[in-house]
Amino acid sequence: MSEKQVRVRFAPSPTGKLHIGGARTAIYNWAFARANGGKFILRIDDTDPTRSTEENTQIILRAMKWLGLDWDEGPDKGGDCGPYSQTERLDLYREAANKLLAEGKAYPCFCTPEKLAEDKKAAEERHDPFQGYQRTCRNIDPAEAQRRIDAGEPYTIRIKVPLDRGDVIVHDAVHGDVTFNARELDDFIIFRSDGTPTYNFATVVDDADMGITHIIRGDDHLSNTPRQIMVYEALGAPVPTFAHISMILGPDGKKLSKRHGATSVEEYRDQGYLADAFVNYLALLGWSLDGETTIVPRDVLASQFSLDHVSKNPAKSDPERLNWINATYLANMDNQTFAQTVLIPELVSAGLEPVQGNATDADEIYATRPGWYDLLSEILRPRTTVSPDVIEKSRFLYEGANVTFDQKSVEKGLTKDAAQSATVLTAAKTALEGVSEEEWKAAAIDAALEVLPEQLDLKKRVVFQSIRVAECGNMVSPPLGESMELLGREVCLARLDRAMELCK
Ligand code: GLU
Repeated sequence: MSEKQVRVRFAPSPTGKLHIGGARTAIYNWAFARANGGKFILRIDDTDPTRSTEENTQIILRAMKWLGLDWDEGPDKGGDCGPYSQTERLDLYREAANKLLAEGKAYPCFCTPEKLAEDKKAAEERHDPFQGYQRTCRNIDPAEAQRRIDAGEPYTIRIKVPLDRGDVIVHDAVHGDVTFNARELDDFIIFRSDGTPTYNFATVVDDADMGITHIIRGDDHLSNTPRQIMVYEALGAPVPTFAHISMILGPDGKKLSKRHGATSVEEYRDQGYLADAFVNYLALLGWSLDGETTIVPRDVLASQFSLDHVSKNPAKSDPERLNWINATYLANMDNQTFAQTVLIPELVSAGLEPVQGNATDADEIYATRPGWYDLLSEILRPRTTVSPDVIEKSRFLYEGANVTFDQKSVEKGLTKDAAQSATVLTAAKTALEGVSEEEWKAAAIDAALEVLPEQLDLKKRVVFQSIRVAECGNMVSPPLGESMELLGREVCLARLDRAMELCK
């Protein structure tokens, strides 16, 4: 027997940017859909007009695209259950509420805020175990109610929670069965007096209408779930499976906040994290493949994700782990991909590229000297944590003969024992002059320099420190032979001359 097709949704409210908690919810929904051959739906929950903005919607869509979480139905895409923004679905909520009114499963309530406050106070004073709405309007005769509506009296619409409903049990795929005492559920509002639906109503009308089979969302919504189940039951719609996922905490175990650093997806993007690495990192905040694997590529996530490996304990964010994962993804790229998607775009943004004026995009720039970028990528890939790291590590290659010297390095490697440094640089120059333009490759350069310590009877470290500072301006540059190959013979010889000036 074939199971019903899985349909899940991510339903952000555009009241701010896409935060990492929301992004992780989106990832789990996406991965669950993909792993089960289902559909992933994106819906914009913009019913709160005071806090939702179109700008935030666009930011969220951009972040979803950057994360590579492609949706099957939703804004920009359409689908059979559209529209996919709640503000465009108000008629549907109205229709559903009217149906419940007609069936006697909902009723208009005329209680003023003052009356509600008084009732609440009285319930508190008499220590009534039921502190919710006192069901004052539940039994008003429908004809009488209609008269009051026609007379213009403001009213809300409340759902009629069956008095004999018994406990409401949420069968949660992460938390197991969670029981709520139905006696504590009052007849809650599904439509406000201003004619807008409440979240608990609109979301269920949509989820039912869109055929959502699994609701995967943050556990801050667990307490809303019994109310939502009441709405499903009133609508006569099947109740989906719920999976409430834990919060993401800061590394210190406290609630995640700005104090812990970046919280929105775009901040991570701007800091130079790769989308693939970031998705991998977030997926592991609360889910694991096998309890130990840290590198879980997107395709593995999309085929192996399952709710039974989701933890119910809060996950702590771990910036060092993110850095490690990102560095691993970078190190594992091939040189051309690294050059075209990381290295060259960063060098362009830093104003170092394009060296040749007419090439503009990364692929064109790469094509001007592929071997050069491949070699630079080869030495930078294992030394890069986030993309912008390549800028400072490459800058010395773009300065011609006039490399910027790091003063501490100059002192240590050149001027501390200037006479000795001059001897080293002179010998280096003679050795390198023996390497022709055609032979100018890292291996030949290394071979020419390798003999110097013995020849000069100096420690290897002393010799190479001076040459490195002369060629690269500092002592922490990438491997020397490769750096010098990239600089080219002419620039290398000129840099030796310039460093010798400092040793006089
Ligand atoms: N719009 C709600 C939120 O952003 C979605 C809640 C849900 O997934 O039901 O929190």
